Amino acid sequence: MPLRYGRLSHDLDPTDRAPQDACGVFGVWVPPEQASRAEVGKLAYYGLYALQHRGQESAGISVSDGSRIVVYKDMGLVAQVFDESVLSTLRGHLAVGHCRYSTTGASTWENAQPTFRSTGDGGGLALAHNGNLINTPELAARLGAGERTATSDTDVLSALLATRDGDPMAAAREILPVTRGAFSLVFMNETTLYAARDPEGVRPLVLGRWEDRGWVVASETAALDIVGARFVREIEPGELIAIDGPGVGDVRSERFAEPRPKGCLFEYVYLARPDTTIAGRSVQATRVEVGRRLALEHPVEADLVIPTPESGTPAAIGYAEASGIPYGQGLVKNSYVGRTFIQPSQTIRQLGIRLKLNPLREAIEGKRLVVVDDSIVRGNTQRQVVALLREAGATEVHVRISSPPVSWPCFYGIDFATRQELIAGRLDVEGIRDSINADSLGFIALDELIAASRIPKDRLCRACFDGEYPIPVEESARGKYLLEPSRP
Ligand code: SF4
Repeated sequence: MPLRYGRLSHDLDPTDRAPQDACGVFGVWVPPEQASRAEVGKLAYYGLYALQHRGQESAGISVSDGSRIVVYKDMGLVAQVFDESVLSTLRGHLAVGHCRYSTTGASTWENAQPTFRSTGDGGGLALAHNGNLINTPELAARLGAGERTATSDTDVLSALLATRDGDPMAAAREILPVTRGAFSLVFMNETTLYAARDPEGVRPLVLGRWEDRGWVVASETAALDIVGARFVREIEPGELIAIDGPGVGDVRSERFAEPRPKGCLFEYVYLARPDTTIAGRSVQATRVEVGRRLALEHPVEADLVIPTPESGTPAAIGYAEASGIPYGQGLVKNSYVGRTFIQPSQTIRQLGIRLKLNPLREAIEGKRLVVVDDSIVRGNTQRQVVALLREAGATEVHVRISSPPVSWPCFYGIDFATRQELIAGRLDVEGIRDSINADSLGFIALDELIAASRIPKDRLCRACFDGEYPIPVEESARGKYLLEPSRP
C-alpha cells in the first residue's frame, strides 16, 4: 500500500520547489563467504541514507543470496521505508539500492525502484537508475504488448535488459547503445553486480573498494565515505562494468559507446553533496570559489554577508572572503523542514517561509546585507526571504546568486519548472530584481562558474543556463507522463 509521507526536502517554499534530482543509486558486491559479516542490505541502507538528498519520494533495496533476488521498496524516505526488522530479512552478498525523485512516470509504488523483472531462464534482474531517458517511447515500442508493468523510463529499460535469457551483459550490449538521455545505472542478477553510465556521463557514478574485500558503486563519493569504502575511479561515460567472483571479486569493463563527456554543471551548483568529489574536485571547494568570483563580479558596499541556509553557505563564505565583508548567520533554518506528517491548513500555509526560516533580528537590524543563494527558480523563495529580512530591520538587501539565471528546463533528470514557470525564462535581471524587491541582484556569469568547476566548457552540460542541449530532445519525447496518456 503506497504511503503518503511528508518529504524531507530543501524546499523553503512548496510553491517554489528547489531543483529536484532524479535519484541516488548504490550497489555493493562482496564474496559469498563474507555475506553474513558484510550485511549488504545495511550497507545499501547507509549508502542510500547518504544519498537521500538526491530523491525523497521512495526508496528500495534488492539483495541476492546467490540464488534468489528479494526486493523491498516503498514510498517515503529511506529511514521511513526501512527498519531493523526489514533490513534483517535482506540477506545476501550483493545489493542494489535506490532513492527516487520522479522525472518520467508518476510518484507511485509501482514506479519505485529497484525495478524487478523475471528473465527467461527463471532468474531475475533488479535495476536502479539515476537520470532521465529521452527516447522512452522508441524504447517502449521494442516491447511486446503487456510487457510494461509501470510507467517509468526505468521500467522500460529493465524489461529490455531482462531479455536474452538471463544474460544481462548481452542485453546491455544490445540495448545501451540505442538508449538516449541520462542514465547512471546499477543493476544485478542473482550473482553479478552491473553498472553503466551514458556516453555523455551526465549524472555522476563512482566505483569504490570496500575493505579490500568487496566493491561498491554509488552516485556520489560521499556515499563511499559513509560506508567506509575507498574511491577507486569514476565509471567512465559509455562504460559498462560487471563485478563478481571468484575470490575478492573482479571488475570486468567494456565500452558500449564512445565517450562524449557532458557532465551536469548543476551538480556543482546545488545537486551534489558538498563533501562529494567530482572529477577530482571537491564540490565544496568549487562552491566557495564561485562565491569569491561572485564577489569580484558583483561587488557592493554592505555590513554583513549571510547565506540562505544551507545551500547558499559555501558561496557566502567565498563572497565574504573575497569582499572582506564579515560573514554571519542571519537566518536559522528548521532542520526538520518537510518531515511533518501534518497537512498544513490554508492559514498555516500563509505563514509560508516563516515555518522554515527564522531571522536573527539582532544580527540583521540596521545592517546592509548581502544574501547569497545557489539559484533562482520561480523567485517566490527569494521574494519572501527579502521581505523577511526587511521586516527584521535590514536597511538594504543585496541578493547574489551562485549560478547564472536558470532559463531553460532540464530533460536529463532534474525537475526544473517549464520555461514559462522559470522567472528567468520571462524576465531579465532587472525585472527579477524588481520582482523579488531586492536593492540589487547579481548572478555569477556562466564562464565564471565553468572556470570554478575546472572542467572544460565543452565537457559540461549547461543547457538550463544557455539552452544548448548536448543530447537533442524531440518534442514528442518530453514530459513526465509520457507513458500515462490518461494524465493531463
Ligand atoms: S540542463 Fe542543467 S540540470 Fe540538466 S543536466 Fe544540463 S546542466 Fe544539469
